[in-house]
Amino acid sequence: MRDFTLKSYQSLIEAFQKAGYQFRSFEEMMTAPSEGKVVVMRHDVDELAWNALKMAQLEHELGVKATYYFRVVKQSNVPEVIEEIVRLGHEIGYHYEDLVLAEGNEQKAIELFEEHLAYFRQYYPVRTISMHGSSSSKFDNRLLWQNRQMADYGLIGEPYLSLDFHKVFYMTDTGFAWDGGKYAARDVVESGFDLKFHTTQQVVACIQQGNYPDRAMILAHTLWTDSWFQWYWLHFREFFRNNVKLIAKKNRFVGDLYGKLVKLYWK
Ligand SMILES: [Zn+2]
Repeated sequence: MRDFTLKSYQSLIEAFQKAGYQFRSFEEMMTAPSEGKVVVMRHDVDELAWNALKMAQLEHELGVKATYYFRVVKQSNVPEVIEEIVRLGHEIGYHYEDLVLAEGNEQKAIELFEEHLAYFRQYYPVRTISMHGSSSSKFDNRLLWQNRQMADYGLIGEPYLSLDFHKVFYMTDTGFAWDGGKYAARDVVESGFDLKFHTTQQVVACIQQGNYPDRAMILAHTLWTDSWFQWYWLHFREFFRNNVKLIAKKNRFVGDLYGKLVKLYWK
């Protein structure tokens, strides 16, 4: 059976609901710490914004509030999609990459950040942000905060900086697997949990057995699809990309070429 479809996403949400978990937006988790079992569904919309809308609609039908982070690039920043996701009652945040856009120039980066934050605040009173990993760049977007306070920008949360992943279990769908972290360049956290999953079905089984942690943040990108064609295309692309990344680590020529192609795609 194909995994990482909207159907498997629904099975995951329903398993949490049956086990008594509450869904909270990240903003809510930061402002009103609640008792009991809580999951934050976080979506970094790197691309395929229309897929994000499909996930948002499904969550809405299931009574789930989630958090969506948008980038400024055209593959993510689609006004109709953002407006509709806000209308469905979800939280919107900024998936920032300004230090990379400014090629490491901190002053320029913070100016861009302010401009982009103001842009997304036209749609929603944004209070949380998440960094984009920018795996092909040498700059780490998080370093924007090494000499600044988020609070000065009216922000209350950035998952990588505000959460203690020894207390909140963190799971991400990188590479169409829940244990694909080896392909992530920066989206890596130090976990206090000794749990490993590969398929969504394994996660569901763990929830049903009552062995899943009480607090979790789940990062699901927008690659979940019921479309047969899109599913196979995205899986092929992921397989190809991950292998090129692994080769690029050892071979500088392949690395440079890959970096150029990635830049071209996001132009
Ligand atoms: Zn990202």
